Amino acid sequence: MPMKYRAILLFGAPGAGKGTQGKILGQIPNFVHFSCGDAFRNLRVDSKLGRVFVEFASKGSLVPDEPTIELWTTSISAMKVTGRFNPEADTLLLDGIPRNPNQVKIMSEMVDVVAVFNLFCPQIDKLIVRLQRRALKENRLDDANVETIRTRLETYKRETRAVLDCYPENIIHQIDSTQEPMRVLLDILQIISRIPKPAISDGNTTFAGGPGA
Ligand code: ADP
Repeated sequence: MPMKYRAILLFGAPGAGKGTQGKILGQIPNFVHFSCGDAFRNLRVDSKLGRVFVEFASKGSLVPDEPTIELWTTSISAMKVTGRFNPEADTLLLDGIPRNPNQVKIMSEMVDVVAVFNLFCPQIDKLIVRLQRRALKENRLDDANVETIRTRLETYKRETRAVLDCYPENIIHQIDSTQEPMRVLLDILQIISRIPKPAISDGNTTFAGGPGA
């Protein structure tokens, strides 16, 4: 059986800051950020999947699982071929996928989730303000009006939140996402730095434990 990809899940409601943190953490050597929303937005709008994405995302709903997983596997394969992702040495930072328990099930054959960061936000109002600000800055159709934002938050509660129940409690880390981005980052880094490294850390000859290990 092929080896599973080592992965960390960035989890939370829309607007919680998964993308912000993922982009920064993805700059650390041996961490590779994959945002499923970005992968969808990078599709050509006149492609078949691009049209499916617009249809669902503009309503605040999830894209069906089958094309979503297909997009994920194709994107990861492309990242492997181009050398942006080396499964032997790198840890994937998954942002926006898996997004429901069925996606967890399908992906469990391919990924080994070593940690889940739950970027929780008890204040819905704060999320709505963040999403509206982002809509203006990034021209995002799914954040353009409050009704769609509310539907997205409902979709999160109804379909996505249950993803947390699919993982053992000891790998789930609660992070207060209402803090400033730098504080959120600090909390995550403190935990990530304590997670045991894979045996090979750079694809060359470095072994866990460093010199003399
Ligand atoms: P946010 O970060 O605000 O939660 P994303 O950029 O992750 O939003 O996703 C935007 C939209 O893309 C979602 O509302 C959904 O329609 C679609 N999408 C992204 N990831 C998935 C997924 N794993 N499964 C189904 N749909 C997805």
